[in-house]
Amino acid sequence: MKTGFVNIFGKPNAGKSTLLNALLGEKLAIISHKVQTTRHRIKGIVTTDDYQIVFSDTPGIIDPKYKLQQKMMMAVKSALEDADIALLMLDIKDNWEENNALFKSLELQVPCVVVLNKIDQVKAQKQQEAIDFFRSQSYCKNVLAISALKGFDQDAFIKPILEILPEGMPFFETDQITDLNTRFFVGEIIREKIFELYEEEIPYHATVLVTAFKEQPKLIKITADIIVQRESQKSILIGAGGKGIKEIGIRARKDIEKFLDAKIYLELFVKVRDKWRDNELFLKEYGYH
Ligand code: GDP
Ligand code: MG
Repeated sequence: MKTGFVNIFGKPNAGKSTLLNALLGEKLAIISHKVQTTRHRIKGIVTTDDYQIVFSDTPGIIDPKYKLQQKMMMAVKSALEDADIALLMLDIKDNWEENNALFKSLELQVPCVVVLNKIDQVKAQKQQEAIDFFRSQSYCKNVLAISALKGFDQDAFIKPILEILPEGMPFFETDQITDLNTRFFVGEIIREKIFELYEEEIPYHATVLVTAFKEQPKLIKITADIIVQRESQKSILIGAGGKGIKEIGIRARKDIEKFLDAKIYLELFVKVRDKWRDNELFLKEYGYH
């Protein structure tokens, strides 16, 4: 069986989401749409008898108004290199040179396949020119030209990817992934908000434990503990008049609702546990095996 991680990279509007929807929407077996891990933003997993491909997109949100910052570039690079293949995607009507410069600057070690999207909007000759242009780049292993929106031959799209993917056992059981990991991913979303809202030290000392997950007819009730090591960290997290914890809750709820596609009621508690990192029993309890 061929298995591996495929990461999709490209400027906003290239058509990444449209491509993923197309790949996950049709005939191919979907396991989970909206799963997120710390290292990969998993968008979907496609499993057939012959292969399992874990599709992700890159976490670095690239604002086209700014040039890619060095730091952001490193984040994008490392996320991409965590995968077996990088799909470098662009709108074929967009500036080829500019996209090429961006792709080249990443200096990726993983095999790169360039995906030219929106070919429905250009003439055949222009499409061929684009294919030739990107095929001649040294980082480029293959070029695929598609219309993610209007439809494309998915088998023909997958084939060159499979040629590059390694052989192996599937990473995820077909029926396992969503249920088993829902709580974990909900915890990760909350943790992500702590990273967004607090500086350096706090996020690294905080862990999140989802303590209750109750599916009720109209909403899902989720309770989670944010665990820190010191009272001082607890005060910072809660913030003046509870402002901090409230903001974490608001942001987390939004994303969890998107993730679960359901209304949720989220209750957060901040608790202090001394040196939780060092206590083996505690780590076990919290699922770090
Ligand atoms: P993302 O920002 O890379 O995720 O891009 P999206 O998937 O959100 O697509 C951006 C826009 O381009 C949307 O309006 C899509 O409908 C449109 N789009 C995506 N793929 C194609 C395509 O193959 N042809 C055309 N004509 N439009 C497309
Ligand atoms: Mg998108």
